[in-house]
Amino acid sequence: MPYHKFQPESLMMSHGHKSGMARGAVKAPIYQTSTFAFETAEQGKDFFELAYGLREPADGEAPGMIYSRLDNPNLEILEKRLCLWDEAGACAAFASGMAAISTTIFEFLKPGDVLLYSSPLYGGTVHFITEVLTRFGIQAVPFYYDQRPEDILRQLKANHQASRVAMIYIETPANPTNTLIDIEAMSRLAKTLSSEKRQVLTVVDNTYMGPLWQHPLQLGADLVLYSATKYIGGHSDVIAGAALGSRELISRIKAMRTFFGSMASPYDAWLLTRSLETLKLRMEKQTRNAQRIARFLQNHPMVERVHYLGLLTEADGEQYRIYERQCSAPGAMLAFDIRGGEKEAFAFLNHLKLVKLAVSLGSTESLAEHPATMTHAGIPEDVMAEMGISEKLVRLSIGVENVRDLIADIEFALEQAAEVREAEMVA
Ligand SMILES: *Cc1c(COP(=O)(O)O)cnc(C)c1O
Repeated sequence: MPYHKFQPESLMMSHGHKSGMARGAVKAPIYQTSTFAFETAEQGKDFFELAYGLREPADGEAPGMIYSRLDNPNLEILEKRLCLWDEAGACAAFASGMAAISTTIFEFLKPGDVLLYSSPLYGGTVHFITEVLTRFGIQAVPFYYDQRPEDILRQLKANHQASRVAMIYIETPANPTNTLIDIEAMSRLAKTLSSEKRQVLTVVDNTYMGPLWQHPLQLGADLVLYSATKYIGGHSDVIAGAALGSRELISRIKAMRTFFGSMASPYDAWLLTRSLETLKLRMEKQTRNAQRIARFLQNHPMVERVHYLGLLTEADGEQYRIYERQCSAPGAMLAFDIRGGEKEAFAFLNHLKLVKLAVSLGSTESLAEHPATMTHAGIPEDVMAEMGISEKLVRLSIGVENVRDLIADIEFALEQAAEVREAEMVA
């Protein structure tokens, strides 16, 4: 066959595993082992020399398996497959998204450094950088989607922080309101802030969009992080995470992972390789469903406003332009403001039958939650208001169910919310 580059979805069933490696098994077995036997003492010495970076590998020499905290065949297969979606040089898989985030940040930051981050961020990340990192003398400085890079730079200079920035940490689209940050512009700012001695890294948590339709590394970012618990796992049955980037940066992250012991287990890695086979199918169906539901909500009298990337138009200005440049599909996460307040939002959530009332996202089943009292409850009220999170806001993660069933479920729950509202107005 002449050269033909297979697409990631075609390679997800086999990449990184040859049936000859495992008695003809088409699927990789689960290598449920803590340690690996060396053929000879000389081989053990070679493996350790490579693992510890004591020498460069000889031509064609690959690192061998030593111990499952360092590496494991299931971890290796998962990492190879994850690289394909983002065209990354290397990947490190983790026991959770938070493990990927904390291990990566600890590897690249040190006391005295400034971490510039987009606000809002995932709650666990905010807590980690504002409550934990600060104990190690690392300063966390937020910026907002409506601030231009030149304004951020001016502010950093005014506060004598510009020369201490070590990392720009971004989450886009933001959870739960889908506001966008321009990854290319922030990567350029990182270059401006870098010096010969110091490379300022741009790190993007791409969990909310998922690995198919936004590729931060191609937009200039140095590292992309995922909670693989979400779209990648996709079945709400595993907690895991990943970091992707150049071989050089990922080998540093892997070294830190070895000492935190924050790698994914063989079984979780195996579950994720199974999930990856259907990633594109799932995400395409989820997105089609979300587009239909967003349009339905937009026309419903109990809905004031829908926050969905697929509904952005030229009238949305810069946000629309970033979306057009940065994302190739709108994804399956949406939020809407219900008419009324917490009472109506709760009536809606309490009357859903098919959609589950739960946090997390990106899975095969649809989920609904109330950010103001659940995922974002820890955020001060004024910050919440700035983020566009009010007691009216309901977040939906759309799954792969029959879309008419979903709409019927949502419509019934909205009618119940309307009754609560009417009763309140009469009273
Ligand atoms: C869920 C999530 C995380 C944390 O991932 P875990 O797998 O729960 O540790 C981080 N970032 C974002 C955007 C998330 O949605």
